[in-house]
Amino acid sequence: MNLLDGKIAAQAIKHELKIEVAQLSTEGKKIPHLVAILVGNDGASETYVAAKVKACEEVGFKSTLIRFNEQEGEFHLLNKIQELNNDPDVDGILVQLPLPKQISDEQVINAIDPDKDVDGFHPISIGRMVQGLPTFVSATPYGIMLLLKHYNIETKGKHAVVVGRSNIVGRPMSILLSNNTDPGNCTVTVCHSKTKNIKELCLQADIIVAAIGKSEFITADMVKEGAIVIDVGITRVPDSTKKNGFKLKGDVAFETVAPKCSWITPVPGGVGPMTIAALMMNTFHSCMQKN
Ligand code: NAP
Repeated sequence: MNLLDGKIAAQAIKHELKIEVAQLSTEGKKIPHLVAILVGNDGASETYVAAKVKACEEVGFKSTLIRFNEQEGEFHLLNKIQELNNDPDVDGILVQLPLPKQISDEQVINAIDPDKDVDGFHPISIGRMVQGLPTFVSATPYGIMLLLKHYNIETKGKHAVVVGRSNIVGRPMSILLSNNTDPGNCTVTVCHSKTKNIKELCLQADIIVAAIGKSEFITADMVKEGAIVIDVGITRVPDSTKKNGFKLKGDVAFETVAPKCSWITPVPGGVGPMTIAALMMNTFHSCMQKN
């Protein structure tokens, strides 16, 4: 078993970006600027946004964190997005999801200028990705593609089973893996909560991408020898031995599945750091379109 180590791959990507940004600075060109919007005080969202801001610092990007309180209405958020859309200094806008109930995720995503949609959630970004055109690909599936590339994983002709069909992970992942690219060129099966024979389908998979949000859903009896397993899931499981009272678990029962795999991602330290590295890549490319 080999580890697809997202920390190592993300570090390599951030190192390259840091060099590129230093070069831009030397040439007196524009430095990438990412704006993150956080609504409310959800613990997990706070952690994710803090990690994104920290990554900007590491690579030398400018970053701005804008906070709205939990009760703030959609109107104010949409106004702020419009302002950022019109600000030529801003290259990327991300609104940390999930949003409070009174705010529509869809309205907010659709309000972001597709040219600054570094999360890749806008319908235009998704449409372009489906057509294989240059675009911002949503950060988690893009990060997984970068991870496969970093470790030179051959995907051509392989059968990939993606478990989960969300707009931000499972669906784009299935499309990217099926595109005529490298990595890519897989034959893809997508599973979801109504799929009847997930175990049988997973047993046929050369590559499994688990993006469900159910701790240790993928067990050893669902995985064939030599499979490549990508675990996207992050679930907080209570753990009284931890200072914060929880530990993070993936969608894959790592201990028993890993011995069967040729490659597997750990949780944490697999897809998570790659998601952030991919966001940095998208922001950099957005800036380069203006430089
Ligand atoms: P989501 O929107 O809740 O989607 C979950 C998907 O899993 C849905 O398509 C759902 O099917 C499917 N599903 C749920 N229960 C299932 C079951 N018993 N059998 C088969 N399919 C089932 O979640 P998401 O946003 O895609 O995120 C998935 C996980 O990845 C979460 O743990 C999340 O925290 C994590 N995540 C991690 C990163 C990272 O950077 N590492 C980034 C994003 C998300 P239906 O469509 O039929 O409901």
